[in-house]
Amino acid sequence: MEKLVSLAKRRGFFFQSSEIYGGLQGFWDFGPLGVTLRNNIKRAWWRAIVELRDDVVGIETSLIMNPRTWVASGHVKNFTDPLVECKKCHQRFRADQVKGNRHEEDGGEFTEPRQFNLMFKTFVGPAEDSSAQAYLRPETAQGMFVDFANVLSSTRMRPPFGIAQVGKAFRNEITPGNSIFRLREFELMELEYFVPPAEEMKWLEYWKDERMRWHQGIGIRPDKLRLRPHGKDELAHYALGAFDVEYEFPFGWSELEGIAARGEYDLRAHQEASGRDLSYFDDIKRERYIPHVVEPALGVDRSMLTVLIDAYHEEEVRGEQRVVLRFHPSIAPIQVAILPLSRKEPLMATAQRVEHELRPHFRTEYDDTQSIGKRYRRQDEIGTPYAITIDFETANDQAATLRARDAMTQDRIPLGHLREALRERLHADKEA
Ligand SMILES: [Zn+2]
Repeated sequence: MEKLVSLAKRRGFFFQSSEIYGGLQGFWDFGPLGVTLRNNIKRAWWRAIVELRDDVVGIETSLIMNPRTWVASGHVKNFTDPLVECKKCHQRFRADQVKGNRHEEDGGEFTEPRQFNLMFKTFVGPAEDSSAQAYLRPETAQGMFVDFANVLSSTRMRPPFGIAQVGKAFRNEITPGNSIFRLREFELMELEYFVPPAEEMKWLEYWKDERMRWHQGIGIRPDKLRLRPHGKDELAHYALGAFDVEYEFPFGWSELEGIAARGEYDLRAHQEASGRDLSYFDDIKRERYIPHVVEPALGVDRSMLTVLIDAYHEEEVRGEQRVVLRFHPSIAPIQVAILPLSRKEPLMATAQRVEHELRPHFRTEYDDTQSIGKRYRRQDEIGTPYAITIDFETANDQAATLRARDAMTQDRIPLGHLREALRERLHADKEA
């Protein structure tokens, strides 16, 4: 884990937010490769959940909502963690994460636990009083619930159908940690799938299988994934069932994604609090009902961390240590690197021309710094599946060497065939 976090910083995947001021716990920034990786993950999710389906539409709702939303949803009352404070050093901890009633470090006694609400508070407009108080959303799901009637009336959707959203959310975690595993500002990919009441469990089954397949489709090793059904004591009182997709992180099996059958709880709560009708009338069966909801919810940050951990490999190649990120080609930030063997002409001009030709078709990078060995190692470390080397022979044979990251094979390919050769290989890798 430490090695991965240091690689992430060294290569620009993620680093502490506002680091020059000492950072801020639970907040992280994403560098050039990190933001590309995130965009690729989000695109893969959006493609699978929205674009390739005719029963899901996407929306984008505001980060700050009418605060009544959070009263109705139960967050104002119940979105809390038990908090204790050490009476000696005044550090604060989650009561369920400490052992005994004394602080191990200094022996200070803990206070009685009190419930701490995890929503960030802010004020809307110039008056900083309770009537102007609002919250930064702790999830995106409520946006889909409060917009349910607007989506229903503006589209041709009818249950079973889903509303999906990708967006930032905020939770004032008492103890954020494990780099980007638990954040105070994070990004969610959530689907609310609205179904006729009798079909809820069927769709819970459907979505748990579908979501397992998706994680494997972006390259996560199947033996590192498992589904864990929630026990009765973990379920919210209204929930009919829930599963966690868990991944075997270096710190143990932990939740990657949650999939829950939420019943009619959310729409019913907003209908009662707002006075607006959030039911659906099925004009074929001639029946009116409040749709039940199945919700798969995944954090972009946690998916990104999982992808990085799963791709990270150290291996020995001809007596030398090699670190390689075996990203799936669909999410690799760079798909092909173009490397002139030396900074002599005509090598650089040819390499730049090749890169220029490939750029519209692949995520490319041109690099002519340092020795070729160091450049290969860098591309391995950032998970680039292919590298094209333009060498002194290129001027004679009009061909270049295509190196594969994983097999480390090197093939001589005519310059005019590079695009097709890359297309074929990346496609074959995706299917593998
Ligand atoms: Zn203490």
